[in-house]
Amino acid sequence: MKIYNTISRKINEIVPLDPNQVTIYTCGPTVYDYPHIGNWFTFIRYDILVRSLKITGYNPKWILNITDVGHLVSDADEGDDKIQSKASKENKDAWTIAKHYSDYFISALNTLKILQPFAIPKATEHIQEQIDMIKVLEEKGYTYQISDGVYFDTSKFYRYTKLAKLKLDELEEGARVEVNPEKKNPSDFALWKFSDIKKGKRDMEWESPWGIGFPGWHIECSAMALKYLGPTIDIHAGGIEHIPVHHTNELAQSEAANGVKYVQYWFHVNHLMINGEKISKSLGNGIRLEEILEKGFEVDSIRLLVLQSNYYTQANFSFDILQTVHNTLKNLRESFSWVYSLNEFIESGENICSMIEEAKKLIIANISDNLNTAESLKHIHKMSSVFGKLTNISIEELKALESFNKYIIDLFGVNLVLKRELTEKESELISNRDEARRNKDWKKADILRNELSDLGIGLRDIPNSTLWYPI
Ligand SMILES: [Zn+2]
Repeated sequence: MKIYNTISRKINEIVPLDPNQVTIYTCGPTVYDYPHIGNWFTFIRYDILVRSLKITGYNPKWILNITDVGHLVSDADEGDDKIQSKASKENKDAWTIAKHYSDYFISALNTLKILQPFAIPKATEHIQEQIDMIKVLEEKGYTYQISDGVYFDTSKFYRYTKLAKLKLDELEEGARVEVNPEKKNPSDFALWKFSDIKKGKRDMEWESPWGIGFPGWHIECSAMALKYLGPTIDIHAGGIEHIPVHHTNELAQSEAANGVKYVQYWFHVNHLMINGEKISKSLGNGIRLEEILEKGFEVDSIRLLVLQSNYYTQANFSFDILQTVHNTLKNLRESFSWVYSLNEFIESGENICSMIEEAKKLIIANISDNLNTAESLKHIHKMSSVFGKLTNISIEELKALESFNKYIIDLFGVNLVLKRELTEKESELISNRDEARRNKDWKKADILRNELSDLGIGLRDIPNSTLWYPI
């Protein structure tokens, strides 16, 4: 499988260090608020990467961390800790805030059918590992201490700019508003911050060789990646906004501390726009998952919408777009599900089994080519038009369809075949409609068809009878 590697600026074949396993680290949420749909798009894209690696035989080991301390309002280590500041606003303890939002996050992963990662480590549960790494950096001469903390001296790490191709002189010329005047270089970042009594008592703070305080945001990922995956990770994923600061800093401190390459492949996911606009706190346009589900949209429609665009392009979300995707999913399900209601199983004469094998191969070819999910959907649509037109199907062909559906569930987490029993009311409506048709009362038959459709039952009239299927 090939993916675009931010650091090489090329599409590279994935060759894991250990041929029996590919290691993946993805930056998780900072748990001070509910994620919006843009965040969820990113996590679904990670999930699809992991599923694709699984299906292509890579055996992924996936770590998804939770940032529950140390992420300051500005990514450049300025301002308050996001979790502490939310706690003060709500008059709660930072631990309570962190627990609430991390529990929510983990349960929402499940709702969105995101595969269970190997581990979901929390920063607060790995303070010692972070202190140990800072000690190594100190011994190697990469750190210095100023009044508010211990910092990484980026001028000592000559490859500092290699991931983001940063121009440090531009950075210095004031790209950042509030640069701590004690820092040696504007790009230097905090490894350990001291508790500042002037800002009030912190709920989360720990002893360290340098003083009471808390770890910087970047060090947690380096320390947890080392603990769970070793000094070199195969794939490190994150949003593109992490390239210039968070990932650049992770790379610098990990390579400085461990003395080996930190990441083989940097996989960055582009942003989601809402109604063509960037999602931002000031616009207040971040839609929550619950808002979408409460409108009656299902997770499979959200996932199908994610698949329609590729991870490296900007995607767009609106409820109109989601409605269109919802209709597409309904049509796909109709084509894939209706054949289950046939009473007689006769070979279709369409060579279904080999068509399905071919479709699977083409889907894998698209996925292996830099995760081209958008292109891969064409093969599903093609199979859907074949199934939609069938008048017969054999048991063997039905089994092939079943295996194709399982394949799509495993790869994309989208179910194309619905199966269920009729309720008493639905059976009654179907026989009433049959009667209306026998009496040539087409108007009544149409009303009943619509009523059944609202209940999630589709109908197909064939000579001398009517077939039903869930939609
Ligand atoms: Zn990270």
